[in-house]
Amino acid sequence: MAGYLSRMKEQEFESVTLIHDSETGLKAAIAIHNTNRGPALGGTRMWTYTDEDSAIDDVMCLARGMSYKSAAAELPLGGGKGVIIADPCSDKSEELFKTYGKAVDRFNGRFITAADMGIEESDLDLIRSVTNHVVGGSEIGSPSPFTAYGVWRGIKASAREVFGRSDLNGLKIAVQGVGSVGYALCRHLAEEGAELIVADIDERKVDKAVADFGAEAVAADRILSCQCDILAPCGGGGAVSSDTEPLLNCKIVAGAANNVLRDNKIGKLLKERGILYAPDYIINAGGIIFVEMRRQEILDENKILAHIALIEGRLQEIFSRAREKAMQPEVVADLYAEEKLAEKSAWEN
Ligand code: NAD
Repeated sequence: MAGYLSRMKEQEFESVTLIHDSETGLKAAIAIHNTNRGPALGGTRMWTYTDEDSAIDDVMCLARGMSYKSAAAELPLGGGKGVIIADPCSDKSEELFKTYGKAVDRFNGRFITAADMGIEESDLDLIRSVTNHVVGGSEIGSPSPFTAYGVWRGIKASAREVFGRSDLNGLKIAVQGVGSVGYALCRHLAEEGAELIVADIDERKVDKAVADFGAEAVAADRILSCQCDILAPCGGGGAVSSDTEPLLNCKIVAGAANNVLRDNKIGKLLKERGILYAPDYIINAGGIIFVEMRRQEILDENKILAHIALIEGRLQEIFSRAREKAMQPEVVADLYAEEKLAEKSAWEN
């Protein structure tokens, strides 16, 4: 574990726990970054990491990301994450997930988990059978429409910053990836009169968006370069990289995807070109807000949407701080999240 303790100190981690069970072969890690605002909520990922270091690296990165996302959304949550080092296609077993669930339970609620990459609803049910500290799945419903609602409100804040109006009527918006969030986002945008351009690697999803919203379809490898006012990446992470950044032909990048910018240098390039970037974990927080409110057994959808709608004002504040200080919005977002991380939560619902 050379270097991990210094990294924990530098990034203020509370704990990184390694779990091993000889009987089931379970190898896992649970990182708790910060519980100042509340229990550390974060999904569990099952992945065939090439080595243990990359698994620990991933769990630490993701746990810290969750702290920032929940704090910025002013939720009464901290940040944590779990990884199971195994092949999701061949290594799943009832005993493995129950053993992992018992490890989650030993945190006595300081860590609450959910599904992430490689974990299906049935796996989560096995974890849930031995611990109460699990959230998500069929009992609360899909967060995607709520994420989409938040992204729509965030796009409005971005349009106000760049075009001086939050009304999206007539603006050309390119949506990369029309999966569960992208499709639901298209509905909000189309209802407001935006002109949609869509792409997906799955042709059936493109056809549906064209039929339902009158969107123009472009090939998946053309969507980033198409001329538009706003580009909404709603596919995988890393859409904007040093290879794709020069191709962009938009004024705003604002979408649902996590880690839209492949690395820290890209944000600087966007700023230099006058392209506004809406920081991912601020604009896509609708899903975590929904999950937390459902966890608190708040069923009133209007109350949930009202909380998610605050993303619009939050982004406006981040954009205006960034403008005043000539900083990149994602750098300001980190400072904003760090301020909130230091505060106790003042949760009202
Ligand atoms: P999804 O799998 O339902 O949809 C993603 C879509 O993007 C798929 O249809 C896929 O075919 C398409 N896609 C992937 N790569 C592409 C590419 N290069 N070009 C064009 N299309 C591509 O996933 P989702 O739940 O809609 O999530 C979308 C993004 O938003 C992900 O990055 C996810 O991490 C992020 N996100 C989702 C939520 C949520 O509530 N679901 C919350 C926060 C963040």
